Amino acid sequence: MTADTIARRDTASAAWFDGLRAGSLLIRRCDACGHHCRPDAKACTACESRSLRWVEALGTARVVAAVSTPGRTGSTTVQALVELTEGPWLLAPVVGAASAPRPRTALLLTILRPDQGEPIPAFTVLA
Ligand SMILES: [Zn+2]
Repeated sequence: MTADTIARRDTASAAWFDGLRAGSLLIRRCDACGHHCRPDAKACTACESRSLRWVEALGTARVVAAVSTPGRTGSTTVQALVELTEGPWLLAPVVGAASAPRPRTALLLTILRPDQGEPIPAFTVLA
């Protein structure tokens, strides 16, 4: 359900990673009912149609829940379960946050580009 579960590029995730490389977070939209689904959905979670297409998410979200973990070097890692404006939930890092943001905090997409491996969707707290 997270970036971790689709961290490896394969035929199912290639379009998603290509979107991230181009600066877009792609999600699945159902052709039958218009419902938005998680990137790894195989069928619509509302009507079970398998006719899903990639669409670009707005990049705005709200915190459902978040946790902060102190690191050994004094840095803090924040992970959040976020609800995209379109509805799907993702687990993603929140960058630049000193502590876990409160539920309902508004977030904006940013894309992390590690030196190695695929890009990762993350969020920053909207001021
Ligand atoms: Zn549907």
